[in-house]
Amino acid sequence: MNHYDLIVIGAGPGGYMAALEAAKLGLSTAVVESREAGGTCLNRGCIPTKALLHAAQVYAEAKNGRASGVIAENLTLDLPAMFAHQQEITQKLSAGIEALFKKGKIALLRGQGTITGAGQLTVTDETGAVTPYTAERILIATGSVPALPPIPGLDLPGVLTSDDLLKGADRLYDSIVIIGGGVIGVEFATFYNQLGCKVTLVEGMDRILPGMDREISQNLALILKKQGIVIHTSAMVQQVEKTETGLAVAFIVKDQTTSVEGEVVLCAIGRWPNTNGLFGQGFSLAMEGRRIAVNDRFETSVPGIYAIGDVSSRVQLAHVATAQGLACVRQMAEKPDNTDLTLIPGCIYCRPEIASVGLTEAEAKEAGMNPKVGKSVLFSNARTLIGDLGRSFMKVVANGDTGAIIGAQLMCQNSTDMISQLTTAIANGMSPKQLLCFMRPHPTFEEALTEALEDLAAKLK
Ligand code: FAD
Repeated sequence: MNHYDLIVIGAGPGGYMAALEAAKLGLSTAVVESREAGGTCLNRGCIPTKALLHAAQVYAEAKNGRASGVIAENLTLDLPAMFAHQQEITQKLSAGIEALFKKGKIALLRGQGTITGAGQLTVTDETGAVTPYTAERILIATGSVPALPPIPGLDLPGVLTSDDLLKGADRLYDSIVIIGGGVIGVEFATFYNQLGCKVTLVEGMDRILPGMDREISQNLALILKKQGIVIHTSAMVQQVEKTETGLAVAFIVKDQTTSVEGEVVLCAIGRWPNTNGLFGQGFSLAMEGRRIAVNDRFETSVPGIYAIGDVSSRVQLAHVATAQGLACVRQMAEKPDNTDLTLIPGCIYCRPEIASVGLTEAEAKEAGMNPKVGKSVLFSNARTLIGDLGRSFMKVVANGDTGAIIGAQLMCQNSTDMISQLTTAIANGMSPKQLLCFMRPHPTFEEALTEALEDLAAKLK
């Protein structure tokens, strides 16, 4: 069969979830994928990085376990085994997606999808054979690729992207310079630092994690520095050059040119929407810069063609891609979708973890609100002391006029799981009092949330 109700291009978390939902809603559905099912998230992003961070954490805890009475003699690191374990996990999950496709009677068309017109595309398989398909609707979910701006030297051997690093290495690098102090840069810095590699982080803005609450950025910088990571901020990279032992990254800080060296360099300065090979000759869609332009129903400039996820979204996160994919397909099928697509939790899996949702105090002020902030510091939280997790804190922001919670920023272990109760509160316009009307189990990290909410409730009186 070469005609479907819906053809999705890309089997990442946006595309594969949209396809599963479409099939459930009764649409005959096919997915075009040129690589492994699961996309960037499963194969080159969220899952492999978290698997590696977990492994590095196991290593670091064994190495530093003396205070807990754990003494590991002759501790060694088997990097190939670490990467093999990570790949085993991703392969298992990827095979699971293919099984779901089969169960949902979704055709997986392997190859490169190219749109040739409204409702028309071709799939070029690895032998070069081209097969034409038609569809009532096409959903573009082709994701993103690492950004490589035109900085001289970024094409040198040894300058790597996250894709390259996740392929694995035989041995640990002596040192790494990471260009970009965003989420990806911070997570790789944590991984390599925990394994004992010398890490230098170079960020162009005045702080790492520039999109986050300032207090979180500042505290994380202190923690990372204490762990031995060297951080340069307001540092604009000019070029990368080969040296005798590796690579030198030259950057300008306050009109001074400085240079740092590393055996390898990770370029982690963002991701570009992926439209490589997507448009056939003579076909185009309206774009916003590199992004495919869509309206609030995810419709592109050509009727019947939709786009979701990293290729069109301002926020590039797996759960955003999924939520957009589901909303898009439900709208196609005229089914209700109640997800608030503007309320986006963001998480960073460093140590302690960071999670945030809604507005920061500064953003609320900028929006003309009268924000009130409740805060707790976890210095006497038992679980934080047991895990020796260092400075951890929670902030909850409310609208001082209405009393409703409008944001939360958590820097503490397990915050990536805890953030959803605050997202629920914001989505439902809840007040701190409503989040204080039940018990939180003891001993947990989230006991500190009770303290932050009590502090906030007192300020709202
Ligand atoms: P993708 O996952 O990029 O999938 C797109 C798919 O389309 C790919 O499989 C690609 O092969 C395929 N494709 C592209 N073009 C074509 C074509 N023409 N024909 C056929 N197939 C095509 N997000 C989080 O939420 N949490 C995290 O912890 C997190 N960690 C990350 C860590 C790293 C190192 C990276 C790089 C990203 C991370 N992300 C994380 C971001 C997350 O991976 C992306 O936001 C998410 O994968 C986007 O999903 P998507 O469905 O839009 O596209």
